[in-house]
Amino acid sequence: MASQSPQYKLPLPARIGLAAEFYRYCKEHELRFQRCTGCGAWRHLPRPMCGECGSFDYQWARSSGRGTVYSWITVVQPLLPAFNDAVPYSVVLVDMEEGVRMVAMLQDTAPEALRIGMPVEVVFEDAAAEIALPRFKKSG
Ligand SMILES: [Zn+2]
Repeated sequence: MASQSPQYKLPLPARIGLAAEFYRYCKEHELRFQRCTGCGAWRHLPRPMCGECGSFDYQWARSSGRGTVYSWITVVQPLLPAFNDAVPYSVVLVDMEEGVRMVAMLQDTAPEALRIGMPVEVVFEDAAAEIALPRFKKSG
């Protein structure tokens, strides 16, 4: 059983296959995406093959952690009881500097402050002893 932080009440993501590798770096507070060693293309979500050249070769390359808000949703009605104390919260879709899009919860930023194109940066929430979750907050 996962040793979840007593302060963290939300469900944890499944960490299997390539997702486990992604979260292993998150645990170290490093945001990394797969980068094809054949053509240099970045990709996210984690998957075995490059969509640009078909290569199965890649490295986990470090992201700048910076991007801009492409879109977002603010949740006010919890769909699961675990989220009762979390609402309202925002989930942002971010265009990362590397060219991939990433979804994560917003942290330390009021939902009213969100704007399309707003610069954000990744931060990590230590949710349990074995996992930290990427979040985004307004840059600067
Ligand atoms: Zn490639």
